[in-house]
Amino acid sequence: MTTKTISKTNEHKFNGFSTEDIGDDHLFTSLETPMKPNAFDMSNDEKKERISILFSEIMDVLGLDLNDDSLQGTPDRVAKMYIEEIFSGLDPKNKPKVALFDNKYQYNQMLVEKNITFYSNCEHHFVPIIGKAHIAYKSSGKVIGLSKINRIVQYYAKRPQVQERLTNQIANELKTVLETDDIAVIIDAKHLCVSSRGVKDDASATVTTYYGGEFNTATKIAELQNYLNN
Ligand SMILES: [Zn+2]
Repeated sequence: MTTKTISKTNEHKFNGFSTEDIGDDHLFTSLETPMKPNAFDMSNDEKKERISILFSEIMDVLGLDLNDDSLQGTPDRVAKMYIEEIFSGLDPKNKPKVALFDNKYQYNQMLVEKNITFYSNCEHHFVPIIGKAHIAYKSSGKVIGLSKINRIVQYYAKRPQVQERLTNQIANELKTVLETDDIAVIIDAKHLCVSSRGVKDDASATVTTYYGGEFNTATKIAELQNYLNN
């Protein structure tokens, strides 16, 4: 079994916050997901093999018997799940390709796609964030298929995330593909790191919002809230 020393970074400070503070308060450091420049040097198969080895080491350290029939396949399953499913949004190759269509119906009011369910994972604890995204946009003359909005949400959710960043990444992508600033993104999510551990608050949820362009007015925000409440 390979061993690896991971340097202790608790002394590191970001804006005066220790890494402990950042994790507990779910602070985040940048809009971009922090990635290494050589993040894709390894193939997916190599990544899966390596994750499987490292995860079996975690299980071993926890004292689990990896010869047990039930546990034997877990490291491989976790590795496959990380790469192919829950963290597949780290790979730009998996970014949804979006085709724009002309707005033939001349529908130039807001379009709201609500209750898009997503599953993400908190980057500070690697436990699930479960939520709903509500998206609104006003066509600049081009429209996209509704399923693409859903796919963009899923792509950015399938990364280790922080809810504020997820909100902004979705908004930025929509602004780019729809060629408009008139975008709203509202995310209402439950963080299992808050409900199942730490402060163990099962009732609270976190709401983050992005109101761009025409949506950034009290009237539009109220109108949007009205759609979401019905
Ligand atoms: Zn967390």
